[in-house]
Amino acid sequence: MTSYPKTLKFYVNGSWRSGDGRDTHAVINPATGETLAELPLANAADLDEALEAAERGFKSWRDVDVNKRAATLHKIADLIRERTDDIAPLLTMEQGKPIAEAKGEVASCAGVFDYFAEEAKRAYGRVLVRPTGQRSLVLKQPVGPVAAFSPWNFPVSLMSKKMAAALAAGCSIISKPPEETPACTIALMQCVIDAGVPADAAQLVYGVPDMVSRHLIGSDVVRKVSFTGSVPVGKHLLKLCADGVKRTTMELGGHAPVLVFDDCDLEKTLDLAAFTKFRNAGQICISPTRFYVQEGIYDAFAKGMAERTAKVKVGDGLDIDSGMGPLANARRPDAVSALVEDARSKGANVMTGGERREGGNFYRPTVISDVPMEADIMSHEPFGPVALIRPFKQMDEALEQANRLPFGLAGYAFTQNLRTANLVSDAMEVGMVGMNSFAVSSPDAPFGGVKESGIGSEGGPEGLESYLVTKAVHQF
Ligand code: NAD
Repeated sequence: MTSYPKTLKFYVNGSWRSGDGRDTHAVINPATGETLAELPLANAADLDEALEAAERGFKSWRDVDVNKRAATLHKIADLIRERTDDIAPLLTMEQGKPIAEAKGEVASCAGVFDYFAEEAKRAYGRVLVRPTGQRSLVLKQPVGPVAAFSPWNFPVSLMSKKMAAALAAGCSIISKPPEETPACTIALMQCVIDAGVPADAAQLVYGVPDMVSRHLIGSDVVRKVSFTGSVPVGKHLLKLCADGVKRTTMELGGHAPVLVFDDCDLEKTLDLAAFTKFRNAGQICISPTRFYVQEGIYDAFAKGMAERTAKVKVGDGLDIDSGMGPLANARRPDAVSALVEDARSKGANVMTGGERREGGNFYRPTVISDVPMEADIMSHEPFGPVALIRPFKQMDEALEQANRLPFGLAGYAFTQNLRTANLVSDAMEVGMVGMNSFAVSSPDAPFGGVKESGIGSEGGPEGLESYLVTKAVHQF
């Protein structure tokens, strides 16, 4: 079993840097409360050096032949596959998710690098042919140095999505993953370095998030900002980006509705719902959360969901029997608890869970039925292991409920009626629909939200496009 590193470092301008008098952040194991290590935080001088390197790195990396860039990305994928069993325990120790989920997350990153290695070759542009013989060329070029901010719920995969697409496009990138979960992202960075990405094309920093984002986004060097995280922080970063008219990709929060119709395959729907809801302890922006269930199966659905949920085994993610680990940091149980207590006080029926578990940041898997609309949890993403259930009569009413929030990331529906499926898919105000499935994330498909859930997409050709600018060249 991998042991947690004693010394953590960040990577700027080709060198790994540790303490040397810098401020540090304590990394805590959320299952035990143990301090794993102290993480050194980049200061302003480190960030300036990273910016200078990123400017140089962009000018050389963009000119590397696309086939060589692709080969390098494939090599990163190979190294991630080889090292999955070493990286996954680090992720579990500092983030909490069960080890099987951690392995799945790390392994999925290899697929992301492989996908963008190939997609890089398809940044074609186009040619417009005039009757006069004149040509206009539409060129796709890398946007420039990127600053990428990724969160603690999927630290390895969300850093990978930004890094793979940016490097594929020919951009240099400064990554700032979360300070809570550094060792797994350091291990990912080591794969990037060992695969041969030049030192100034990819860098890794940790710091005080507000200081780092102001410093990097305030620099003329950075031409593109990619952020995954909460809606309020996304809005704040968008304002910073406006000053420099920086391009952005924003993957922000959701509050995913699930429309369960009378004609669904009930047992299958319940099995999928109970399995998916408690993955990563519900700390997923596309986690199914607001279950609107048609009246004919409402009682059976609520009972089936509560029974399955009560069987989810909660424990340290390193224990292979654990079906759900702790929440990732001490802020989460407080936030989830406040929302559940508010719902309970307003008359909601807590069918199972609804309380913390002793030791660590554990919160029991929770199902709440008959949740009143005025409960805060119906409007604020719990980002935790809580399923909310409400009844509906007709499709129109369910769609109105599904679309009533300012968020629109993922939405789901379960029905065996094709007409219902088509109408719901068209009408849901979301970036991704799961029809009879919760699987809405894959490297080759766009992943992103509408309304306040974000701007742009990661994944698919759209993911590469977001790191490219267009230039029209008119030849006379
Ligand atoms: P938060 O709003 O403080 O932070 C969210 C993320 O943004 C974290 O990764 C944090 O490090 C980063 N961040 C915060 N301030 C920043 C700044 N000024 N500049 C750059 N990055 C900054 O909240 P939190 O307690 O860490 O997370 C709670 C909420 O965040 C959840 O309720 C959820 O809605 C949202 N969240 C969403 C995702 C997602 O995948 N969309 C991931 C993590 C958290």
